[in-house]
Amino acid sequence: MESLLLAPNLFVWLGLFVGACLGSFLNVVVYRAPRDLSVIRPASRCPHCSARIPWSQNLPILGWLFLKGRAKCCGNKILPRYFLVELFTGLIFAWACYAFTQNQDLGMLLASCSFAWLMIGVVAVDTETMLIPDRFSLGGACLGFVLSLYFPSLHGVIHHPMGIEKILGAFQSLLGILIGSGLLYWIGALAGRAFRREALGEGDVKLLGCVGAFCGWKGAVFSIFGGAVFGCIFLFLLFLFQKIKPAQSSAQDNLAFGKEIPFGPYLALAGMGYFFGLREWIDPWFSWMHALGF
Ligand SMILES: [Zn+2]
Repeated sequence: MESLLLAPNLFVWLGLFVGACLGSFLNVVVYRAPRDLSVIRPASRCPHCSARIPWSQNLPILGWLFLKGRAKCCGNKILPRYFLVELFTGLIFAWACYAFTQNQDLGMLLASCSFAWLMIGVVAVDTETMLIPDRFSLGGACLGFVLSLYFPSLHGVIHHPMGIEKILGAFQSLLGILIGSGLLYWIGALAGRAFRREALGEGDVKLLGCVGAFCGWKGAVFSIFGGAVFGCIFLFLLFLFQKIKPAQSSAQDNLAFGKEIPFGPYLALAGMGYFFGLREWIDPWFSWMHALGF
């Protein structure tokens, strides 16, 4: 009996460990994917001097802390991103293991972990490079669709009298992909016309397809507006702390306050917010849609 009582704690530690290791791998993908490098070979190297990094300095979460954010080989700074990605991936995996091993919801466990992994990666890679590699957006959309097919409960489809739960789950995911991408495409196209410059990247449109595949169409629609709000709050905070200055008249190339900022990280954060808890508050706002027959 006692060993069973200890099991939830065991799963939490296991989740933290696996999450931190996959977060470490995610750091490799974030660096190599936009540069079209293989994510498997070669083994970890210092991005500054290309020296091989021994495993002892490459421990997830702890490695960065032990080294105090400086590479041992050449003394250059290691981005805090390495630490943060491993920490947050580990924490979310630990939480998912705590929440979904008790009711043995394998679908939610897999979807939570994979969605968090993808979105944390998008936040990191788009912030650094202004790019969202297709491996995250298109690959993520396919994964979300397949998971929805096998685990229709991700979209609240538990039981259907005709036994077509899987088809309904896949349909909800497909609807999320199409409505999310379609709506953002049109907003981007109209904004592009209005401002006479590209307002949204193709990567953002594909990313929202991935969010829709996991969260359904309501989550995708929320992410557009939630992402815009998150982005505005962030810009306001930057402005408040004088990190950026309002655009000069000569600097018309730039979008916001004279600095081009990626939208992808805010879409990803809003998608995670919806998936990990805001859904309960957001979905009732869509209830008026039922009156129209949706
Ligand atoms: Zn180095």
